Amino acid sequence: MALIVQKFGGSSVANAERVANVAGIVTDAYKEGNDVIVVVSAQGDTTDDLIAKANEINPNASKRELDMLLTAGEQMSIALLAMAIEKLGCPVVSLLGWQAGFRTSRTFGAARIERIKTERIQSELDKRKIVVVAGFQGLNKSDDLTTLGRGGSDTSAVAIAAALHADRCQIFTDVTGVFTADPRKVSGARKLEEINYDEMLELATLGAQVLNHRSVEMAKKYSVELEVLSSLVRESGTIVKEAVKMEKMIIRGVTKDTDVAQISVVGMKDIPGNAFKMFSKLAAKKINIDVILQSIGRDGTKDISFTCSKDHAAAAVELLEEMFSVQGAKVTCNTSVAKVSAVGAGMQTHSGTASKMFGALYEAGINISMISTSEITISVLIEKELADQAVSAVHKAFFEQ
Ligand code: ASP
Ligand code: MG
Repeated sequence: MALIVQKFGGSSVANAERVANVAGIVTDAYKEGNDVIVVVSAQGDTTDDLIAKANEINPNASKRELDMLLTAGEQMSIALLAMAIEKLGCPVVSLLGWQAGFRTSRTFGAARIERIKTERIQSELDKRKIVVVAGFQGLNKSDDLTTLGRGGSDTSAVAIAAALHADRCQIFTDVTGVFTADPRKVSGARKLEEINYDEMLELATLGAQVLNHRSVEMAKKYSVELEVLSSLVRESGTIVKEAVKMEKMIIRGVTKDTDVAQISVVGMKDIPGNAFKMFSKLAAKKINIDVILQSIGRDGTKDISFTCSKDHAAAAVELLEEMFSVQGAKVTCNTSVAKVSAVGAGMQTHSGTASKMFGALYEAGINISMISTSEITISVLIEKELADQAVSAVHKAFFEQ
């Protein structure tokens, strides 16, 4: 007998038929003699719909009240799934995050799981019940409900698997695993059998939509092996773990991220301290910066460009205008850009990966405006409209030749 954690995303429980399908998967695992904990997200677009409802009433609502509202989405889906499991004749109990022992930091809308008091879940498992837990939520030290940030129920599942030393943690979604590129857009995309945590983390951060990046960080930290698989097609998925089989693959995946704004401060004075001032002020406002580019100075001036998420663009522009207009600098913001990245641990031991990627883009006639690299990633900033074409071209260069 094993302890299995199964997580189902919003699309897997979007309607009555899908909820019944999930109940079937869960009870099959239970009937094989396993202990089963199920973590679910809100149905379909429920979370988006709740946010829209809040905006209708008060676009500046406090984050506390927003969390109070959003946690309701998962409350609905755990009850509905538990009812579907009851119908199949298996003992089941649904638990909200706080009932399942999720204790979090204070920050509404982006709380961190601090610990899980596992007594309640354990006692329900001891009674041979299937335990259905609301993902994405917990309780902070003031006894207020919190949410973990969008896509947070993956993290809830990994946290339970870590806390209870589960034998398996399965993340069910609407695709059959982790692919080398988005299979809906790139015809030659293929499913990976295995991928390591670092590669998965990069892919998740750079726009692959299968796992929330914080869940991957947590899985790595606690060595929780994950299986990403489909709730609709029963076939084996992708395993995410530390060491993976050596395949002859330099690159594991190509992604695009369109939530990018490119901000430039043009013509600031070429004096020491400007970069420091700029990025420390941005950091103080919690604006996360990604790619940075500084031009060589000319006529006593220089330019600095960087990227951040679109959400932060307006605040960044305002701040920089305040800081640098006295130096005669201009601030520009371009939101029609996208970041296309190639990820793979294999590039550490193979040379020529970057040139191959740039060559593919050149042949496709795509201009690169910024480049950044890390040990296992090469990213380029390009025009947003060309992003899909760029992903296909880069994917083809690495996988289809
Ligand atoms: N329902 C939440 C969201 O849509 C959490 C999740 O899906 O993981 O962000
Ligand atoms: Mg969701």
